[in-house]
Parts: sequence; structure tokens; C-alpha cells
Amino acid sequence: MTLPGQLNPTPRILLGPGPSNAHPRVIRAMATPLIGHLDPEFIGIMEDVKSMLQQVFRTKNALTFPVSATGSAGMEAILTNLLEPGDEALICVNGVFGNRMADIVERLGAKLHRVDAPWGKWIEPEQVKEALGKCKPKAVAIVHAETSTGVLQPLEEIGKLAHDAGALFLVDTVTSLGGTDVRVDDWGIDAVYSGTQKCLSAPPGLAPVSFSDRAVEAIRARKTKVQSWYLDTTMLINYWSGEKRAYHHTAPISSIYSLYEALRIVLEEGLESRFERHQKNHELLKAGLEDLGFEFLVPEGYRLPMLNAVKLPQGFDDAGMRKTLLDRYNIEVGAGLGEFAGKVWRIGLMGYGSNENHVNALISALRQVL
Ligand SMILES: *Cc1c(COP(=O)(O)O)cnc(C)c1O
Repeated sequence: MTLPGQLNPTPRILLGPGPSNAHPRVIRAMATPLIGHLDPEFIGIMEDVKSMLQQVFRTKNALTFPVSATGSAGMEAILTNLLEPGDEALICVNGVFGNRMADIVERLGAKLHRVDAPWGKWIEPEQVKEALGKCKPKAVAIVHAETSTGVLQPLEEIGKLAHDAGALFLVDTVTSLGGTDVRVDDWGIDAVYSGTQKCLSAPPGLAPVSFSDRAVEAIRARKTKVQSWYLDTTMLINYWSGEKRAYHHTAPISSIYSLYEALRIVLEEGLESRFERHQKNHELLKAGLEDLGFEFLVPEGYRLPMLNAVKLPQGFDDAGMRKTLLDRYNIEVGAGLGEFAGKVWRIGLMGYGSNENHVNALISALRQVL
């Protein structure tokens, strides 16, 4: 066979639901020479990653670290650590990622209760209250930024209802973290997970997680071992903290370098200014898209600034237009998922990718081809 050509993919503007374009500094950080995963200098880097993650999550939780796999592993990590077979869980579902949580709950042998809202809508606290009147779950879980629909889910009231019912409050912040406010401690979130390839602007590969003291107590009180060996925090903690660091699995060194630099960039910019930037570019994109005849799927007030779900105009060639944008303009946008396939586009402006140039590039490309 002939040797395949040197790896050289065409540079793209990534305006889909993730991965977003990584910050150039993050890409450079990944080329940093490897050191050992138990090297004292690497332990120092891990400590800095943990404390920067605490700042970005706005939490004091000691058990805060990145799981060595993508966002879905973060989802699996919090559910598998907190649920034993036979436990009950209430999962809020208004899109793909709520559904994925429900699937995991069943696979864990826990009893699943669901609160559903139509795609493109949010979960009302009333719905959760009613459901909690009929079951006694150990955990209530919900998605903060539903990337499949573009809905921003208000969390505080639902968190209070969960706590009043004696349940832990679990939240997916894969798309929201680093792009809109996430307040783990103020909002009473007991376990949270995220991902690196959305608003943190690092490549995919790590899932930051954080567990409150209440969640840690719940893990300690388990009667059975955590179902997943790889995701068992009671073992991972011996690598991620304490005096004597014990080998569990070989940490993905280069990914941790990338997260280190990505978090530095987030904190350098400042959380508030970063959220304002996302909002400003969302508004700029909105004006351009509405001008071209696209309508937003989600009502104002519940729209994600980093993931714009828009209905396609009548007769619009979904797949053909996405192909033209990619082939001719090197711009990737996201297709609709599930019931929105062929009807909706999902346009991401995430992290480093949320900037005026990207908005202008997309709007002028669309102007030309329409
Ligand atoms: C992307 C995403 C995930 C899954 O993350 P992967 O990195 O693809 O495993 C989970 N939840 C939400 C809300 C997401 O947007």
C-alpha cells in the first residue's frame, strides 16, 4: 500500500455544536513535551488545573477535577458514582442530552422517573414539583444548556425543589461552562460535569466534574462498589489529591496541558467579560440571521448565547447549503437533530469562536449563496 499523505486537514471555521475552534495558545500548549504523570511538576500542574476549575465552576468543592474522557464520560461519572442499582432518579428531558442521562440511569439499574418538555422548551419548576410528589428520588438531574435545541434552562428553583425533597441536584454544563454564568455553589448544585471542546475552547477529551460535600457523603454511604472501575471517584481521588499520589490510569498529559492553558485564558479574560462577549456576538448573529429570514426556535429569555438554533426558511436546502458553506467557505454549521433534522440549524459561537469575524464570515457567505 502507498503511505497516506501527511495529515493536513483544511482549516475550518467551526460554528457547529462542538468542537469549536481551539484557542491557538491551547493548541501550542498541547505540543509541550511530556513529563511523567507522577512527576512532582505534573502534580503541581494538576493542582493548578483543579483550582482554576473551581474558579470557573464558582465552587469551593474539594472534589473537582477533569475526568479523562469526553463530556459524556462526565455525565456517566456523576450518575454512576451517585446511583446504585435500585436507587430512584428523576431526569428532566427536553432534548438529546436529557435523554442520554435517562439511558444511563437505566443502564445503571436505577429506577428512572422522567419529566419531559417538548424540544425547544424548558422544564418548568411546577413539573418537577408535581413529579416529586409522586416519587422519592435520590437525585434530580437536568441539562443547563441543551445543545440539541438551544434552550437555556433556569436552575435555581428546580435545585431548591430537589433539595426540599431530600434529593441531590445534578447538572450538565457541557455547553454552558465558560460561555454563560454557571454558579455551582450559589445554585446548590451537588454534582456537575462539563466538556472541554465547547466554550472552554480546548480539544475534546476531558470532562471537568465537581461534587459537593453532600454528594461525596452519598458516595461514601454506598452499599455497592461504583459500577464503573474507570470512573470510580473513590479511587480517582487518590491520584487527584492527597500527599501520596497513587497510579490509577495514566493521565492524558497533553490534554491536561491543553485544559491548563484553556482555563488560564478563561480567567485572564474574566468570567463576566467572557459572558458579555458571548451575548454580544449572539446578538450580532441574531440581527444578521433575522435579516436573512431565519427565525429563532427558542423564545427570547431562554436562548443560549453560544448555540443559536434557527428554523430554516421554507424550501431551504439544508444539506446542500451546509455542504456549500463547508466546501466553498470552510464554515461548518450544525444540522438539526432528531425531530429537528432538516428543519433547524444549530450555529455555535463558543469560547474563542465567539467573535465578530466569525459572525461576519457566516452572514456574508449566506448572503452570497442565498
Ligand atoms: C456535547 C454535549 C455532551 C456530550 O459531550 P461529548 O464530549 O460529546 O461526549 C453532553 N451534554 C451536552 C449538553 C453537550 O452539549
